[in-house]
Amino acid sequence: MPDTITFLGTAGARLMVANQILASGGLWLDLAGVELLLDPGPGTLVQASKRKLRASKLEAIILSHRHLDHSADVNIMIEAMTEGGLKRRGALFAPRDALEEDPVILHYLRSYLERIEILEERRSYRIGEVSFHAPVRHHHPVETYGLVFETPRHTISCLVDTRFFEGLCLHYKGDLLILNVVRLEPGGPFDHLSAAEAGEIIKRLEPKVAILTHFGMTMWRAKPWEVASRLSDETGVRVIAARDGMIFDLAELD
Ligand SMILES: [Zn+2]
Repeated sequence: MPDTITFLGTAGARLMVANQILASGGLWLDLAGVELLLDPGPGTLVQASKRKLRASKLEAIILSHRHLDHSADVNIMIEAMTEGGLKRRGALFAPRDALEEDPVILHYLRSYLERIEILEERRSYRIGEVSFHAPVRHHHPVETYGLVFETPRHTISCLVDTRFFEGLCLHYKGDLLILNVVRLEPGGPFDHLSAAEAGEIIKRLEPKVAILTHFGMTMWRAKPWEVASRLSDETGVRVIAARDGMIFDLAELD
């Protein structure tokens, strides 16, 4: 089986999600035979079913943070992963505040899971042949971590929601860099990356491929594929704008 990442949505920011201008189902990773779901936003179950991705095959669900556009479908996906709670299986990884203060994971579902692990800065986790770690806490209104996945073949960095800060990119080296780029222009009171900041990060990290996703309205109006092509020219790295339903085959990195 090839290693793939399916984009079950590319919407970021409230209006894009609330109006479903783009879908908001997060990422379905199939790495070294391990299926993982990262950030099941609104509509994940529908988007996954439409693409014949089976929740009962998931080994784990991971929340980078508890904002709704990343977590709204987490409960139904836990139920689907555990076949309605009939099979105790699968793992859930989430920051502490997603489980404790103002929790987004319903208590009655927690016993369906084989294990729940708290995401913490610099801790590493393993599922089968895939390991991942949460290198640094992001600058975002709730507890938020990006993730770096390592398979026997590739390193995949998912740089999720954050304000740009000094030292951010030190943590996200890898063959593939996936960036949540909500905004076109930097500045303002927003805890999100802009396209220009994404360009700086890509230039410094030099991944083999960079994929932009999680678009807000300003990015969407600027046509993400045009922004990506401009960033490719500026950085010398192949930069792709994700599309709803896009399947990226990691063989493209070899
Ligand atoms: Zn957020």
